[in-house]
Amino acid sequence: MGLFDGTPLEQPVTCERCHKPLDAGAADHCTCPRGADGALCLPGDQHPRVRREKRRGKWCTIIAGLDDAAGGGGTDRKALLKALRTSLGTGGGLATSKDHPADALILQGDHRDVVVERLCEMGYRAKAAGG
Ligand SMILES: [Zn+2]
Repeated sequence: MGLFDGTPLEQPVTCERCHKPLDAGAADHCTCPRGADGALCLPGDQHPRVRREKRRGKWCTIIAGLDDAAGGGGTDRKALLKALRTSLGTGGGLATSKDHPADALILQGDHRDVVVERLCEMGYRAKAAGG
């Protein structure tokens, strides 16, 4: 079994970044973030803005400006939210259509600076915004 067996369609298509197969059915497949067009959309291409806001008398931290994997961008917001919640030991959720901006992640408490730090560690070009 080799690259030259069979037709071109039988050759695995591999990721240009991690060189793993793109086929999600493969055991060790590529999990690089991709947009709806299939192009790589890496954290380093994204510039999320992190600000804090008082809602119903409580501080929360809002992360906006992320692309969403489901919406065509490259960030899995649910996975990112989970990672941040675990890392900060706080609650939070995805913004709903009532929130602005609707693609934001919302964490409970004022964690702006540490969130910027964590996002930068993950490779995002995050910036603090607001006061
Ligand atoms: Zn990859």
